[in-house]
Amino acid sequence: MFKWPLDLARARILISNDDGVYAPGLKLLERIARQLSKDVWVVVPQIEQSAASHSLTLSRPLRIRKLSPRRYWLDGTPTDCVLLAIKNILKDHPPDLVLSGVNRGGNLGEDVTYSGTIAAAMEATLLGVPAIALSQYVVGNNRTKWQTAERHAPGLIRRLVEVTWPAGVVVNVNFPDVPADEVTGIEITRQGRRKVGDELQERLDPRGRPYYWIGSMRREELSRPGTDLAAVHQGAISVTPLYLDLTHAPTVKAFRKTWH
Ligand code: MN
Repeated sequence: MFKWPLDLARARILISNDDGVYAPGLKLLERIARQLSKDVWVVVPQIEQSAASHSLTLSRPLRIRKLSPRRYWLDGTPTDCVLLAIKNILKDHPPDLVLSGVNRGGNLGEDVTYSGTIAAAMEATLLGVPAIALSQYVVGNNRTKWQTAERHAPGLIRRLVEVTWPAGVVVNVNFPDVPADEVTGIEITRQGRRKVGDELQERLDPRGRPYYWIGSMRREELSRPGTDLAAVHQGAISVTPLYLDLTHAPTVKAFRKTWH
C-alpha cells in the first residue's frame, strides 16, 4: 500500500522512462528529482521503448548494467525496469515515489494506452509505490521546450504528494508546448480523445515488396472541455489521475441487468 504522507526530502525516488538512457528528458528528470530528495535512483531501458506500452519481457533473459552509483540500464522495457528496480536492485529499501519521463512528446488521450512512460508509472503503482508520469508536449516539429517541465515540475510534484491518492491511481502530467513563463496554470483533467494511426504509409523496399510506416498523424479533439488535450492547448499543465481498474462501471450494471 502507498505510504502517506510522503516526506519528499527523505523519500527514495526511483526514475525510469521509455526514451532510454541517452534521452535529454532523463537528465532533466534527474535534476528535477534531486531538487526534491538526495536519494535518487535511475533504472532505464538501454534503448528507446516509446510505445512499448505495459509490456514485460518473458521470452529471453534480462541483463542489468550499472553505469555509475545509483544509475542502471536494462536491456528491456520500461515495465521490466521498474519491476527489476523494485524487486531486485532496491529490494532492501524500495522507493517511496517513482517518476517516469520526462517524455519527449505528450501522453494525452489514447496515447496513455500505448505509452511506455505511463506503463513504467503503472508498474510502480501495481507494486504499491505511488508514481507520476511526466511528459513535455511538443506540437509538430517544434523544438522541445524542456525548460517548461524543468521550471514547473518540482513545485507540482511537491503539491501532488500533499494529497493522499488511493492505491491504483497513477498520475499523468503533461507540460504544454509554451515557454515556461507563459504557462497559464494547472488544470486537473480527464483523458481526452487522440487516436494515432491516421497516417499509415505503404512503400516499397528495394526488392519491390511493400512495407508500412505508422506515422504520427492523429485524430484528436483539441477543445473538448476538461480534457488533457484542451488543457495543454490552452497553455496549462495537465494533471490527470488515471486508475488501473479499467472496468466501466455503468456497463457492468447494464450487463448484469441483462444476464441476471
Ligand atoms: Mn517516449
